[in-house]
Amino acid sequence: MLKSTPADARAMREAILHHLTYSMGKDAAHATRQDWRMALSHAVRDQITDRWFASTRKSYEAKAKRVYYLSMEFLIGRLLEDGLVNLRMLDAANEALTALEQDPAAVIADEPDAALGNGGLGRLAACFLESLSTLGVPALGYGIRYEHGLFEQKFEYGRQVETPETWLQQPHAWEFERAEAKYRLGFGGSVAVRDGRSVWTPDEAVVAAAYDTPVVGWQGRWANTLRLWSAKPANESFDLDSFNAGDYIGATAPEAQARTISRVLYPDDTTEAGKVLRLKQEYFFTAASLHDIMRRFDSEHDDIALLPKKVAVQLNDTHPAIAGPELVRILHDEKGLPFDQAIDLARGVLGYTNHTLLPEALERWSEDIFHRLLPRHLQIIDRIDDAHAKAHPDRKVTIREPGTVKMGELSFVMAHRVNGVSALHTGLMKTTVFKELDRLHPDRIVNQTNGVTPRRWMLSCNPSLAELITATIGDGWLSDLERLTELEPNISDPEWLRSFTAIKRANKAELAAWMAAEHGVQVDPAAMFDVQIKRLHEYKRQHLNILEAIALWQEIRDNPDAGWTPRIKIFAGKAAPGYFFAKDIIRLINDASRVINDDPVTNKYLKVIFLPNYNVSLAERLIPAADLSEQISTAGKEASGTGNMKFALNGALTIGTLDGANVEIREHVGPENFFLFGMTAEEVEARRRIDGHAAQAIATDPRLARAIDAVRNGTFSPTEPGRYAHIANNIAGADYFLVSSDFTDYWRAQRAVDAAFRDQDQWMRMAALNTARSGWFSSDRTIRGYLRDVWEAETLV
Ligand SMILES: *Cc1c(COP(=O)(O)O)cnc(C)c1O
Repeated sequence: MLKSTPADARAMREAILHHLTYSMGKDAAHATRQDWRMALSHAVRDQITDRWFASTRKSYEAKAKRVYYLSMEFLIGRLLEDGLVNLRMLDAANEALTALEQDPAAVIADEPDAALGNGGLGRLAACFLESLSTLGVPALGYGIRYEHGLFEQKFEYGRQVETPETWLQQPHAWEFERAEAKYRLGFGGSVAVRDGRSVWTPDEAVVAAAYDTPVVGWQGRWANTLRLWSAKPANESFDLDSFNAGDYIGATAPEAQARTISRVLYPDDTTEAGKVLRLKQEYFFTAASLHDIMRRFDSEHDDIALLPKKVAVQLNDTHPAIAGPELVRILHDEKGLPFDQAIDLARGVLGYTNHTLLPEALERWSEDIFHRLLPRHLQIIDRIDDAHAKAHPDRKVTIREPGTVKMGELSFVMAHRVNGVSALHTGLMKTTVFKELDRLHPDRIVNQTNGVTPRRWMLSCNPSLAELITATIGDGWLSDLERLTELEPNISDPEWLRSFTAIKRANKAELAAWMAAEHGVQVDPAAMFDVQIKRLHEYKRQHLNILEAIALWQEIRDNPDAGWTPRIKIFAGKAAPGYFFAKDIIRLINDASRVINDDPVTNKYLKVIFLPNYNVSLAERLIPAADLSEQISTAGKEASGTGNMKFALNGALTIGTLDGANVEIREHVGPENFFLFGMTAEEVEARRRIDGHAAQAIATDPRLARAIDAVRNGTFSPTEPGRYAHIANNIAGADYFLVSSDFTDYWRAQRAVDAAFRDQDQWMRMAALNTARSGWFSSDRTIRGYLRDVWEAETLV
């Protein structure tokens, strides 16, 4: 499918050579791989740019409602292959590069993986941008152009070591600096009342400068903009007097000071950082985006009452929650609208997506910091709270509490729609964090279960499977993923299933070869590839997984000839640098892996591998090769998950709890094609109230007791036997995440997995059914839901 013609390849070759000469200033004889990559990127960018202009023109002509997606994170990964795939030029590029004696895969892999996000939340934003373009919705993504994205992870003696990420130090072809789009933003200072109006006079200023990246949709029918803000000094950055006086470093201080705001991504989105810099980042990108949005609105419309009809602003979590008070400030203080009308207009514009019920992850700011940085906003928030109290005299919830500002409550009160990201999560929002606000505003909370773009997470990362699907049902599935159900009748055709199986085997063999070449580990591609890749967090329970591996290792040693199903356990994921328990889990997995992989009795049946530096590119490599997807969070803690969707789509079976979107995945693929284990969210709550729940579980499961003992007694850290005692004590003690209580059922489910895997035909049928029934998890479906229920906006193609 999507075969290029010789003419396409010829045109591509000419475009590459043109850019090699005129954009890179190189001739073919002296070009480096980076030059080739840049030349190809420019050739692709030319194609995208034409479509991008056409889309922008259409949006202006239609005076269409625009969707603005505000997100502190965009985990976009590499863009070259994405562009090639969506423009259907990948084959032409491969042919052209081969003719030019370049290795296409190496050229594509030369691009840095832009990691302007931590994990699921940022990747969701990236999938949404691609789907917004695929559907032809006039939209912009707004975020921060971090100089340093998420840290790079290395292991030293099994320990995570972080090094700065430097994507901007290599040239990349995708962004356009917009010298004309600059906004001056203030911090601090004081508020005075003049002629009845509040006037904020900040005492610190910084400039937000826009950098635009085009995001092209499927088949290039539409392209939107990702606009990222970079912080620049507001005044003449260079102090010539200091320089001339010999103070070379002091002369650049103002510039360094201003740039700090967009210097680094916070490497943790699950705990409130409590840093002044973080609040500055949040206000910086939110205020710059709103100024930009209002400028565009004012250039097209002269009736401010039209605002909610023409502008939808989505807040991806509470990080841009200051949008509410900032928009009220613009409308009331600057444009002179009555306060209540300003609130109503702002609420008509804003939607808020909640991503977590973890109490420690719900943002709260100290009043002190807030007052110091945003004194006028604090006053506005108090008035919003008062207005809410007046409208709902019986309310038991406030935005402000003595000494703090609660960003979740602020976002809820200022948004006309608040959405959860899976059915379970949305239900829990209504009974836990937002119970009282839901009572006051019963129509506000809606569900929009997350999704992933099938262009990146199938067509691009699993081209062989994509080709089989297209050969079977045509290529309509790429823009209508639920058509994958048309595959179902083929699954009972042995020949078709053989093709499906051969593709999974080939993907596994490719991964095995890569792991051998890059990481020096030998694995048998016929073994089960059991994969857990995601951020390290106690609620995600990587420690449950490694504990089961340890118990399995012990059991195989006891009884090596019991017909074990060979299994390769693959982990990847980063821990926040300050999250010591999570870092110790990484180290434990690495230490255990050394002992287990070196055991000649067991290593035919079990190996454990922790691959460093998990990012989008590594996910794209691992997911198509997975047999088993580990989605084992403590029920009630994972809001949705999107990794779970990528795996099911690519024909991996899930072992999982009833958590997040696992619930809906199981419903779609069928309970017989999903390995369920563990307590429900309700049972989790009840279990926690039982005194000594972990001890009880351990007393009834000798396997669990023995595995914990091995962790405690230094089996995996003989030079420092006490190294993991605290992990053992945690699991056997307070065990908030119920590793012990869920262990026995997890073990049972894993043995059911072993048994199922031994019947390869049946396993592959179940895997193919996962692919055929995962179409609902396309981010196109999610975006259609937001368009209908939250944004009330339309598509233009
Ligand atoms: C999909 C994805 C995630 C989210 O994974 P979960 O398992 O849902 O937590 C995180 N990081 C990367 C690089 C991803 O591609």
